[in-house]
Amino acid sequence: MELEKVLKEHFGYPCFKTGQKEVITSILSGQHTLAMLPTGTGKSLCYQLPGLMLKGQILIISPLLSLMQDQVEQFKKFGEKRVIALNSFLSADERQKAFHHLDQYKFIFISPEMLMVPYIIRKLQELTIGLFVVDEAHCISQWGFDFRPDYSKLGEIRKKFGNPLTLALTATATKKVREDIIDSLDLEEIVKIESTIDRPNIGFYVKELYDFRDKQDVVLDLVAKLTKPGIIYFSSKKVAEQIALLLTEKRICRAMAYHGGLDQHTRILIQQQFIYGQLDVICATSAFGMGINKENIRFIIHYHMPMQLESYLQEIGRAGRDGEPSIAILLYTPGDEQLPLQLAESELPSEQQIDWLFKKIDEKQIEKDGKITLNTQLMDLGGFSEIQWRIVEDIIINTPIETVGLKQLQNLIKDFVKDRITIKKNNIYKMKTWVESNFCRREYILQYFDETLLNKVHQCCDICGLQFNDFQTKDSINSPSVMKTEQNWKNYLAKILINSELRE
Ligand code: ADP
Repeated sequence: MELEKVLKEHFGYPCFKTGQKEVITSILSGQHTLAMLPTGTGKSLCYQLPGLMLKGQILIISPLLSLMQDQVEQFKKFGEKRVIALNSFLSADERQKAFHHLDQYKFIFISPEMLMVPYIIRKLQELTIGLFVVDEAHCISQWGFDFRPDYSKLGEIRKKFGNPLTLALTATATKKVREDIIDSLDLEEIVKIESTIDRPNIGFYVKELYDFRDKQDVVLDLVAKLTKPGIIYFSSKKVAEQIALLLTEKRICRAMAYHGGLDQHTRILIQQQFIYGQLDVICATSAFGMGINKENIRFIIHYHMPMQLESYLQEIGRAGRDGEPSIAILLYTPGDEQLPLQLAESELPSEQQIDWLFKKIDEKQIEKDGKITLNTQLMDLGGFSEIQWRIVEDIIINTPIETVGLKQLQNLIKDFVKDRITIKKNNIYKMKTWVESNFCRREYILQYFDETLLNKVHQCCDICGLQFNDFQTKDSINSPSVMKTEQNWKNYLAKILINSELRE
């Protein structure tokens, strides 16, 4: 059947978005495919549509529970009920039922952690996997910003299912990461479909402030003037809460904070209110955004500097999905890199935590087969976060203790942590270089992803003379703008003079 017809009949779309048809055609002709398509271009359709035409089950490995739930909802919207997400949201009862009738589902979403469980592997081996989909495939590579140790074992798992046809999807992967994905999945022949990461309707603006205390006033002023809706990203829950409160108290707009500290119910409620236009602005941490399908987001502001260009690009990619002009503003004060540097270190277990853990691991915990059983109480006692614990646990479980010994195992973990910190620091410095550079921001980002800019857009970036007025509401255009750099330079120079006078 003609692909356009299937698209229209099953999904109700009149035509394909960029890259979709190439990926779908490649999969349907039986070729393993790596697709890099920008956020919001509809990557899910690249397995949803072939899934209807291929024999067997479609297994989709997805890294985030919230993302999985959203994708299941998307399927239900199209009337596809043969879909299930195997994750910790299922009760023991539901899980048992699901495993007894797995063959009745056409689309099976699963987290990488669950895919490592031998019982689950055996259950899935009973099926015929028609398509093995690795969503957010950059998590496979240790050079990827979001490296997940479990993802790196997907190549082995694929083999256990008899090397099924494979589709790896990502929005942001450098050339090195793309090569790693292919190596790690052990795919000899693969079709690479790489669409540009450029989003021409999003203008870039880096607003440098010389005193971090000015950020609050600047963000309130910006939100008052910018066409809404919009998202403001923060690295701190507390600051997100504070700014949301100020925006509401000062009657600038209807705003709410959204972060991982809120319960699931509240988070869903806020998300829905934003989607249906009952909120103008979300003050969010990175917990917000994955799977949010809101077409008309007009601005994304970053209050704090993100940890790498990859996640920055993903976050700003939530703006302007309707193709209308939108703006991405990053507020920067020299020294802002300190916060991401601290965050990078805190995501990994510290040397003291590792030493503490190995004092607690004694011979009793080493079983006859040489494996160490880790008591999860140690996680709480040692103050490990979930991410820190996953790293430690993963290395311990997968290292043959009889050949390396406890001391070497301890050093292996420390070396892994050191390497990860070096990679993360490099990414932060690359982000800082982008912020401080006088080079076209769009061209810089494209070069980072090994692309060249083919068409210069009118509203490109602050370096190329972007006109801020175009992104303001009509009635705010004549009020003084905080985006006029000359004015801020004057303030800055005045501040230096006053300070030096005070010192004298
Ligand atoms: P991504 O994973 O690339 O960020 P999604 O798969 O979540 O994007 O899709 C983004 C939005 O685009 C969804 O609302 C989806 O329904 C819509 N979409 C996908 N394909 C098409 C298409 N061909 N035409 C119109 N809308 C589409």
